Amino acid sequence: TLKGKTAVVTGSNSGIGLGVARSLAEAGASVVLNSFTDNAEDHDLAREMAKEFGTEVRYIKADMSKADECRALIEQAGACDILVNNAGIQHVAPIDEFPTEKWDAIIAINLNSAFHTTAAALPLMRKAGWGRVVNIASAHGLTASPYKSAYVAAKHGIVGFTKVTALETAQEPITANAICPGYVLTPLVEAQIPDTMEKYDMGREEVIKTIMLERQPSKEFATVEQLGGTAVFLCSDSAAQITGTTISVDGGWTAL
Ligand code: NAD
Repeated sequence: TLKGKTAVVTGSNSGIGLGVARSLAEAGASVVLNSFTDNAEDHDLAREMAKEFGTEVRYIKADMSKADECRALIEQAGACDILVNNAGIQHVAPIDEFPTEKWDAIIAINLNSAFHTTAAALPLMRKAGWGRVVNIASAHGLTASPYKSAYVAAKHGIVGFTKVTALETAQEPITANAICPGYVLTPLVEAQIPDTMEKYDMGREEVIKTIMLERQPSKEFATVEQLGGTAVFLCSDSAAQITGTTISVDGGWTAL
């Protein structure tokens, strides 16, 4: 059980982040939800989760593209035993047409934010005498696809950063690992379907099976619940000697 632990999950008002936050709450952790918005729905989501799981759930607004807001998120959380760096965006374009502002935003949100939150969280973990850093990388942290230059660079970067975090905490009761999902059907992936349908002149089902899941041998999307379960495992005592590595949840993608 994760009772008494506080988990901060960046980018967690939808998709994988929300799924991981729900699994951690179900396991008993107090949870801090986050995104860059500050809508009534964000706070409602926290209230509903608190009621559903009988644990403390707060929503803290912070824009993960901004260094000071990343650090402020951890400071406002007050405690951070479990840090899940999940916030991420995607943009698909050939390198010579890739907009500079998209490149900068992807590197800031998908990579730099993890540096800032980790830097702010490690002192709190050391004070508490226990910590878990779980970075949501991607199969694209281990392999590449055309037209995803910024995303692949950021995800390879976060896998490297995870290893350094593990080495700097190796002799402490702190671990750092990266989960590498293949395709998970979330708003981020859903948003890529219309563009991909147009690009390949295909229908929705054909795009899903032959393009999106082309490299996922299982031909099934992974689920946010499976990713949540993997995160909870990494927070368990069984995983205390698992550090500095990646766990693929990709239906065999990286075995190809
Ligand atoms: P999503 O769009 O559903 O969720 C992204 C989350 O990040 C949202 O909560 C969004 O509000 C938040 N976010 C975006 N910009 C932010 C910012 N500037 N500050 C704070 N929060 C911000 O997408 P998802 O598929 O759930 O993706 C979550 C993570 O999982 C990402 O890092 C993504 O790269 C990774 N991932 C997703 C898949 C997939 O198939 N969906 C596969 C591999 C890795």
